[in-house]
Amino acid sequence: MRPNAVLISLLWCCCAMTVSACTKVAAPPVATADNKQVQNRGAGKDNWWDALPRPEWSAFTRIDQDVSWFEVYLISDDIYAIYEPGQFEEVISFLILGKDQALMFDTGLGIGDMRRVVDQLTSLPVIVLNSHTHYDHIGGNHQFKTIYAMDTDYTKSRALGSTTEEVAEFLSEGWVWKELPAEFDAAGFRSRPFVISRRVGEGDVIDLGGRRLEILETPGHAPDSICLIDRQNRVLFTGDTFYLAPLYTHIPGSSFEDYARSAARLAGMAGDIDSAITSHNVPVVDSSYMTALGDAFADIRAGKAKNYAVSDGNYEYQFGGFSVIVRADEPGLAKD
Ligand SMILES: [Zn+2]
Repeated sequence: MRPNAVLISLLWCCCAMTVSACTKVAAPPVATADNKQVQNRGAGKDNWWDALPRPEWSAFTRIDQDVSWFEVYLISDDIYAIYEPGQFEEVISFLILGKDQALMFDTGLGIGDMRRVVDQLTSLPVIVLNSHTHYDHIGGNHQFKTIYAMDTDYTKSRALGSTTEEVAEFLSEGWVWKELPAEFDAAGFRSRPFVISRRVGEGDVIDLGGRRLEILETPGHAPDSICLIDRQNRVLFTGDTFYLAPLYTHIPGSSFEDYARSAARLAGMAGDIDSAITSHNVPVVDSSYMTALGDAFADIRAGKAKNYAVSDGNYEYQFGGFSVIVRADEPGLAKD
């Protein structure tokens, strides 16, 4: 889940790169990022979709497929980004191919037919692993047979699915601008239950054949948040632990203290990666953002982060390209 919409204008400092010649994820130059919160979402007010299409996507090769709800891009050798720009979350799921099997890192909102897209991209056996189990990352899980999951009570409860009432808001006015698929049952929209095949956790390595993905437990945004690191290719998949938008520490199930520890951990790994692959808005950011993330949480905890605004009883601290939303009753907040 992504908190509040932002308009992000990343200015490119060089021409678009192609990925076909690269053996590693191409790290787009991130020159500047202007993080403007969009409030009062909805008809006649600021429309988050006015920021679309986000220019960052033009750096990547778009892949033809026949499910119009999704846009699919090849963002590196054997990594596809499956993007849902039609709904406010602008969530991105990733299909990562090895020689022997493929990993789906999240399955999106459950509005479009994710399985149909994946079947057009690979014939390999597919493992699903969620970056965390918020509704916008697990929507297509039920379409897959092999699902690896964290061994947490939170994950188990999310695997049971949701009611329609719990997710109805996410299709309401101001949340969706693109036409919903004809076959999609909006009135029946819910997180569908899914069956967990195998428990995984910290340090586990998923070997896809020629590509090894290591699980890092990074709770904070959600209790079961993880990142994946591909050490050989120097790439980190951050899930919702980092993206270029407001980061949530304030929603049910989130934990500022856990998030701060996870942020410090990722900052310590900035030298191990060239780029980070994020799950909302734009797919790839420079590894330096991991350092910025760690610094941001450290400054908030120390009361040194002074650029903030108060809304809905929360503090939103602004940093370059992202912000952090913190409950007002957290310790270490700058309040003067
Ligand atoms: Zn989330």
